[in-house]
Amino acid sequence: MNKPLILIVEDDPPIRNLINVALESHDYRALTAAGAGSALLEATSHNPDIMLLDLGLPDLDGVEVIRKIRSWSNMPIIVISARSDDSDKIEALDAGADDYLTKPFSVDELLARLRVTLRRLHQMQNEGPETAVFVNGPLTIDYAAGCACMNGEELHLTPIEYKLLCVLARNCGKVLTHKYITQQVWGTAWENNVASLRVFMATLRKKLESSSAVQVYIQTHVGVGYRMIKGIE
Ligand code: CA
Repeated sequence: MNKPLILIVEDDPPIRNLINVALESHDYRALTAAGAGSALLEATSHNPDIMLLDLGLPDLDGVEVIRKIRSWSNMPIIVISARSDDSDKIEALDAGADDYLTKPFSVDELLARLRVTLRRLHQMQNEGPETAVFVNGPLTIDYAAGCACMNGEELHLTPIEYKLLCVLARNCGKVLTHKYITQQVWGTAWENNVASLRVFMATLRKKLESSSAVQVYIQTHVGVGYRMIKGIE
């Protein structure tokens, strides 16, 4: 397999160099861009596997870069930002970012996020975006039959819990905002449903955990949303 090509978009030279050196010493190829204009140019001409994107860029806000990229590409975008406000993370995720890292971050943390994202990317490339049966460790979902099993035992889920599980599974590896999840599960009026989402998520988790000896990988991102992590295959 070719080394994955990562586009680093960062206007701060020391951080850009730090990431560049870290990636090249860990079997990645890296391209760099110091602003939004050059980022878009590099993205269209080299079609990188993953983009690491700083939100505070001199020429255009990073969120606008995400929107522009999403008009033609599904390449995974990991936001790296000094903004620690939940609202900034949510805006970037709703614009189409896959994950976020808050500065300051460690190289190990960055490499871990890249591995998660690459796994998701390979899965998308190998299976296509939609497969008939989803498998994540002991959890399986048969989309055609409309049922989910844990270790071969059918889970007794309510229609909402099942829908919720499917939304997480179809976006496995990606951080989903409350807004995105509630829109997928209930339709448009999402503002009133964040509290309901918490309740349904709690009952869903209880059912997943009580029927599994191993951990089911639903992460909570406080104030932002949830993510299902792909377990060990
Ligand atoms: Ca910056």
